[in-house]
Amino acid sequence: MIIKLKNSATAEQKQQLISLGEQLGVSVCTVVGAIDTLLGFIGDTTHIDIEQLEALDIVDSVKRIQAPYKKANRIIHPENTTIKVGDAVIGGSSPVLIAGPCSVESEEQICSIALDVKNSGAQLLRGGAFKPRTSPYAFQGLRKDGIKLLLEAKQVSGLPIVTEIMDISQLPLFDDVDVIQVGARNMQNFELLKELGKTKKPILLKRGLSSTLEELLMSAEYIMSGGNEQVILCERGIRTFETATRNTLDLSAIPVLKNLSHLPIIIDPSHATGKANLVPSMARAAIAAGADGLIIEVHNNPPCALCDGQQSLTPEAFDTLAKSLNRIAAAL
Ligand code: PEP
Ligand code: MN
Repeated sequence: MIIKLKNSATAEQKQQLISLGEQLGVSVCTVVGAIDTLLGFIGDTTHIDIEQLEALDIVDSVKRIQAPYKKANRIIHPENTTIKVGDAVIGGSSPVLIAGPCSVESEEQICSIALDVKNSGAQLLRGGAFKPRTSPYAFQGLRKDGIKLLLEAKQVSGLPIVTEIMDISQLPLFDDVDVIQVGARNMQNFELLKELGKTKKPILLKRGLSSTLEELLMSAEYIMSGGNEQVILCERGIRTFETATRNTLDLSAIPVLKNLSHLPIIIDPSHATGKANLVPSMARAAIAAGADGLIIEVHNNPPCALCDGQQSLTPEAFDTLAKSLNRIAAAL
């Protein structure tokens, strides 16, 4: 529920209304804009009588938010959310590049890729330590040792790191991780989302394989309602009848989510297409469509990668792509 206050409202009156909201059992957030001040009543507002609120002296108007996501809703927070990680500002004026291998494999591998992608302009390093694989016989990631190697690569390169969590029990290992990734397969692991809502770290939330954008926003809402408002949305391709690509990249997710929500949105063209030769064109299209960044798989020896080699760019191909992206971003 959004309550627009009259310009004449005093700080004391505003505080009284906030207390009233709390007595009515909702959490209250305040948005002070250039012209208007809004109060958001968040939670179950079905029992609150709109007309009674409208009758208050300081209230200009009251509107129910129809969408089930409140904190992620742009109505509550008209400005874009920006998330600062190291030197990067995700959701800021220029797109952010996150790059690195699907999986951390060795110290040499992750450190050399980190330096290469940094030289090409990546601002964050990705690398999976806990890998959600379709087959239990496939490489499952170096797990705890993978996180240690990522931290070494962070030291060597100075790049902040992004890595995936698969279970709440792994959280203590993520103390020094800069951005925690929730993978597509865990987008609706609600207990995990609630726990991440209690952390203070940015969360990169990937869209589930067959999830709607509203479901993605509801998963963001789980994290935000727990107190952590630093959520980065990620479109990584969805399941369709098409088999020419690993998934179908839903680029319309960018303008749709931008309209509905203030959260930054990035695109993963690697998992979306599954093919290295398709990554550059979809990466460029994503930036042209207004994405706040990209997460791209890069490997120093794709044919020998332990996971997702077929969709990984070489450091050289990533460098060429990064240069063309700069030109697109500048043109915008
Ligand atoms: C990944 O980023 O390595 C990954 C497993 O992605 P997704 O969850 O999108 O499949
Ligand atoms: Mn991968």
